[in-house]
Formats: sequence, structure tokens, C-alpha cells
Amino acid sequence: MEEHDQSRLEELLTCPVCQDIFRDPRQLPCGHSMCQSCLNNLLEHSSNSPLRCPDCRAQFGEVVDVQRSYALAHISEDYKLCKSRREKLAKKVYCDCCPESKTLAFKTCLKCEVSMCKDHVTNHLELPAFTGHPLVDPLSDIVERKCPQHKDEVLRYYCNSSRRYICNVCALDSKQLRIGSEISSVLQRQLTDHLSQEFKALFDHVAESTGAISRLQEDFQHYRRRPPDLRVNGVTFILLFLWFIVLYYAYSYFVENQMLTETLEKQCPKTPSETL
Ligand SMILES: [Zn+2]
Ligand SMILES: [Zn+2]
Ligand SMILES: [Zn+2]
Ligand SMILES: [Zn+2]
Ligand SMILES: [Zn+2]
Repeated sequence: MEEHDQSRLEELLTCPVCQDIFRDPRQLPCGHSMCQSCLNNLLEHSSNSPLRCPDCRAQFGEVVDVQRSYALAHISEDYKLCKSRREKLAKKVYCDCCPESKTLAFKTCLKCEVSMCKDHVTNHLELPAFTGHPLVDPLSDIVERKCPQHKDEVLRYYCNSSRRYICNVCALDSKQLRIGSEISSVLQRQLTDHLSQEFKALFDHVAESTGAISRLQEDFQHYRRRPPDLRVNGVTFILLFLWFIVLYYAYSYFVENQMLTETLEKQCPKTPSETL
């Protein structure tokens, strides 16, 4: 795009209120546009007088019918992006090591935070002392490469998992996080093993108890299935046994009594009255 066309386009995309490229533009009934925030400001400050278009001075009533202009919004955003990219490219980076600082830089070292020309970068490329120094295309503003979380650190590595550039501190943090998660996974595994052993023992106990219960049930069923006459025989047997015991005691009592009587008769002879 030629310079003239570019400035014309920028003029068309400039808000008449803030003189900046449109941000979320709104179109007035007269066809002119302005940023939404600028329109809000105007409406707030023109509560007594009716709103006027800053471009054509057209006057509107209390209720202004504004419309969102999507195409203008997109064009403005794209233009802003292109402009900032162009400005970055246009910035010339010079070698920090050349005394006159007029030689264009070839690389910037993120570790030394120094931009170097082709001659001065050879040390970085050849000497073992500089291995691990990240060299990138010349950066005019090294602040752009500073970590947003750790202000003094330069973004040195690309993190695949978070898909962003990270600094030394970020790298250390993520390493500790990884170690932490590894430790917790080991603990989790140990806990799972222990719990599964406990569960196994518990299941064995339950199985044993169930076996014992079913054996008891079987015995009970077996007893119930036995013919009733057998049970009667059993009862009869017990009764007979008891009867024999009673008989035995009765017999021994009788024998003892007999012996005692005989002994008494021997010791005390019969009185005369008794002979009568
Ligand atoms: Zn504006
Ligand atoms: Zn207007
Ligand atoms: Zn140089
Ligand atoms: Zn370096
Ligand atoms: Zn960081």
C-alpha cells in the first residue's frame, strides 16, 4: 500500500472524538461513526443540550438511533494489527557492541540481553562459554521478551504443554509441579495397592463366613430331612437311659438299706417284749 493511500485509510478509520483508530464503532443516523465509549461520553456530557455529530454537526433528539457497524469494526481491528506489525518491522536494531552503534544487528542474545552484528555474534556462535545462550532475530525492545509473571526474567524456552514462551523461574516452577505430581502419583499407587490388599483380606473373610453359614444351613436342612421315627427313637432312648439311672439309684438305695438293717440287727439283740 502506498503511503498516501495508507494515510487516507487511517483518516477514514479515525474516530472524530478521540482521534484514534475506531474501537467498537457505532454509526449515527447521519452516517458518521465514533467509538462506543466516545459516544457514551458525549451522551453523558450532553444531558442538557441535544447530541450533535462531531463530523457534520447534525443534531439529534433525546433518543439517538445508533447502529453497530461490524464491517468498520473488523477493518479497524485489522488495520491496527497491520500498523503495529509495520512499526515493529520499521524499527531498526543496531549492534550494542559496535562503538558507533550504526551497524545493524544480526542477532539478539536473550541471556546477555544484547543485540549483535554479524561480526560480534561470532563469539556467541563459536565459544563454548556461550553455549545455551538463546539467539533470536534482532529485538528492538527486549522488554517484549520479559516474562509477564517474573518481570526480571527473559522468556527463554518454549513450553510445549502450555504452548507459550517461559522464563527460567517458570521452567523451575513447572519442573517442581511435575515432580510434585510424580510424587503424588507414587503415593496414590501405594495407597491403591494397600487398599486392594485390605479389600482382598476382607473378601476372604466374607467368603469364609459365607461358607460356614451355608454349611450350617446344610446341616440344619439335613437334620430336618431325617425321618421322624428316628427322632422318636432318639427321644425314647434318652427316656430309657434316664429310667435305667432311676432304677439303678433305687436298687442301690434298696441294697444299702438292707445292709444297714442287717448290721443294726446284729449289734442290738431283740428285746423280750419283741419276742412276744
Ligand atoms: Zn473514539
Ligand atoms: Zn455526521
Ligand atoms: Zn557489532
Ligand atoms: Zn549471550
Ligand atoms: Zn516466568
